[in-house]
Amino acid sequence: MTRVPVGAIDCDVHVSVPGMAALLPYMSQAWREMIVTRGTDGLELASYPAGTPLATRPDWREGERLAVVRREVLDGFGARAAILNCLHGGQAVHSEDLARALCQAVNDWLVEEWLDKDERFRASIVVPAQNPGYAAAEIDRCAKDKRFVQVQLLASNEIMLGRKYYWPIYEAAARHGLPVGIHGGSAYRHAPTSVGWPSHYLQDYVSHTMGLESALLSLMAEGVFNHVPDLRVVLIESGVSWLPGFLWRAIKSWRGLRGETPWFTTSPADLVRRHVRLTAQPFDAPGAEEVQKILAHIDCDEMLLFATDFPHWHFDGQDALPPGMPEALIRKMAVDNPLATYPRLKETLA
Ligand code: ZN
Repeated sequence: MTRVPVGAIDCDVHVSVPGMAALLPYMSQAWREMIVTRGTDGLELASYPAGTPLATRPDWREGERLAVVRREVLDGFGARAAILNCLHGGQAVHSEDLARALCQAVNDWLVEEWLDKDERFRASIVVPAQNPGYAAAEIDRCAKDKRFVQVQLLASNEIMLGRKYYWPIYEAAARHGLPVGIHGGSAYRHAPTSVGWPSHYLQDYVSHTMGLESALLSLMAEGVFNHVPDLRVVLIESGVSWLPGFLWRAIKSWRGLRGETPWFTTSPADLVRRHVRLTAQPFDAPGAEEVQKILAHIDCDEMLLFATDFPHWHFDGQDALPPGMPEALIRKMAVDNPLATYPRLKETLA
């Protein structure tokens, strides 16, 4: 077991809205009536619904959630802070107005039910990417609270994330010094694989790296980092082991084809080093030798961020770090890199 240093910052912890009814107090009278009248107040639009027990650890389902997160994540690691990422159907529903109402309610719920309950919690702003203007306004609204340290997007949306349609979101994030966290996941406008719809959770989960690879290349090729040079992107729950192979192919093809994107003048490897960070859970490598090879290929000790990804079933408890990691890198992943990636952490934890 590799020891996580005391004072670590956990960059991916999930909380889940217990049900639509929990959001009603954070919605306008008109939306409350609409949701109840439509009979949708019993819906479970949050991540980890009861019907997918494999998605999370059973103790999280059964226990009092604030107490379980405190015990397993904060006290369990002696963590200095944990960034809460709340995956919610508000980021996937088709109505952009309902999406806005839901995302606003989720963010207000996060403040009252989590951020106000423990000073070590930080959170990502859940935004309705269905309408980038609404998303930018939600970023401006929530950014007043310094405990929001990131903007949260799903990897797969209506269209690819690099398209100019989404640029108001990146501009708003940069305006407030917030990284954009792209979490593995989909609004399911398209099949999560490039060849069709899968039948099982196994296929769905494994296929998410394809979505993240495509989103990352889209950001580079469409010129997002030229347009917003200060933008920092964090790929969350993306796995890590795919990155060297992906970059090799991206660089090789970019060298031959960059004439079609004259603004794309910096190598994908350099763009990723400058603008992109990855949470290191799950790492997706079987043993110490393979982990060390992947680290050698990445060749940058500033890329990785410590995360437990609690309460996923692949949460490894105290064994949250991949095997074979050098002590100096662990210290950087757990403390230095998160502080460098999230300006608001540095500001509020100092
Ligand atoms: Zn996650």
